[in-house]
Amino acid sequence: MKHAFIGIGSNLDSPITQVRGAIEDIKSHNKIKLLKSSSLYKSKPVGPQDQDDFINAVVKIATTLSPLQLLGELQKIEYLHHRKRLKKWGPRSLDLDILMFENTVMRTKKLTLPHPEISRRDFVIVPLLEITHKNLVITKNKKLRDYL
Ligand code: ADP
Ligand code: MG
Repeated sequence: MKHAFIGIGSNLDSPITQVRGAIEDIKSHNKIKLLKSSSLYKSKPVGPQDQDDFINAVVKIATTLSPLQLLGELQKIEYLHHRKRLKKWGPRSLDLDILMFENTVMRTKKLTLPHPEISRRDFVIVPLLEITHKNLVITKNKKLRDYL
């Protein structure tokens, strides 16, 4: 089993219900084991401000899936939550991002690991800190504490 962290976000169609529902979907997946989940956090949107606040959370999982398989399963869950891909940084009913997958480093069009936005987003760093610790290794020379 490999460990990974998933960032969850929603600002459309009852965001709290969307985020709780996504955590339940992850929990009930037969190839994903939910290890920890953060509290739910409210944050201001990135980019266009004429949209509702976001609800965010981070979960820690263990899985037998590969990173790309995990991405595929998360996209199925997004689709189940009727995610419509409208505009970049626009409102969304559910966004599931792989923040980290073990110590995998990859940069392809389909998947970048660790997720490049971790260092810039409080709504990822704060929930991550709640379920891990400051010494969490993000990349070879960066720890979570370096982003606080
Ligand atoms: P964003 O999350 O950047 O706001 P999307 O959720 O629409 O936007 O993602 C667009 C694409 O980002 C996805 O189709 C996926 O292939 C790609 N992607 C690259 N790296 C990751 C990652 N670490 N986690 C999730 N998606 C990723
Ligand atoms: Mg995404």
